[in-house]
Amino acid sequence: MFPTAIAGSLPKPAWLAETQKLWPKWKCEGADLAQAKLDATLLWIKAQEDAGLDVIGDGEMSRQHFVHGFLPQVVAPLRLKGRVHAVEAQFLRAHTTRKIKFTLRGPMTIVDTVADRFYGDKVGLAFAFAALLNQEALALQADGVDIIQFDEPAFNVYTTDAADWGVKALERAAQGLHEAGQAAGRRCTTAVHICYGYGIAANIDWKQTLGPEWRQYAQVLPALAASSIDQVSLECIHSHVPAELMALLAGKDVMVGVIDVASDLIETAEEVADTIGRALQFVPRDRLIACTNCGLAPMSRAVAEAKLAALAQGAALARQRFG
Ligand SMILES: [Zn+2]
Repeated sequence: MFPTAIAGSLPKPAWLAETQKLWPKWKCEGADLAQAKLDATLLWIKAQEDAGLDVIGDGEMSRQHFVHGFLPQVVAPLRLKGRVHAVEAQFLRAHTTRKIKFTLRGPMTIVDTVADRFYGDKVGLAFAFAALLNQEALALQADGVDIIQFDEPAFNVYTTDAADWGVKALERAAQGLHEAGQAAGRRCTTAVHICYGYGIAANIDWKQTLGPEWRQYAQVLPALAASSIDQVSLECIHSHVPAELMALLAGKDVMVGVIDVASDLIETAEEVADTIGRALQFVPRDRLIACTNCGLAPMSRAVAEAKLAALAQGAALARQRFG
């Protein structure tokens, strides 16, 4: 009950990249950089295991920013030159026996950040990216990834488009993953992470324009509830999202954000368990996963480590309280 996971990113160690920056410069290059990325991945695998998390990620140590991996200027029909994340996914699988989750950007969020000089049509471009994401996702499944999560913060910005075609593009990106998992003799779970972003100044300013109640999720959650995606990751703690919106996700696993990524204050186990308790009014016990609101990348390493521990301890307390 109440397994624990992070949304995705973790801070890069000071010897790998600049710290506490969203777009940090790497500290080395070439083969040294490739090795340093894997060394940092190994460090965070161990830190997540030591904290007691149930689902382990690579912390996105190999990406400068979460958008990296799929970030071109589009001038011709899209195709993949080869694998995008094979190295870090296979490395992650080789170094933990726990469930692993790997994150990819969702098609709508990709379209929001590329310069298109070819398709001239947002929806067509999103489905073209979805086909490529699907290729990589199927390969990640074959690498032994248990949960493939697509990050779609754009769903909270373009709420009408998200409900109209964003969820369908997402399903295209996840197409065949369940079947491929079954054929390989294990379940491959699909997830989407929708948030209000990192705790950086631009996001904090934007959030101040959203009013006292954030109801953006209300438009997209019904479309997700009707979709083939298994898990949905939402902000909860210290956010203005009305908790009852989670009821729109009947039938889905809900990754409830119980750790604030916009504050360096470390949550107590009681706070985390209280947040889980509030979510339990709208999410069944066997469908609740305790998670972070968003990635921890721009935070200090010490704060991130303390927050991982708070997440695990809070979920353990919630199991005692509500088990
Ligand atoms: Zn996020």
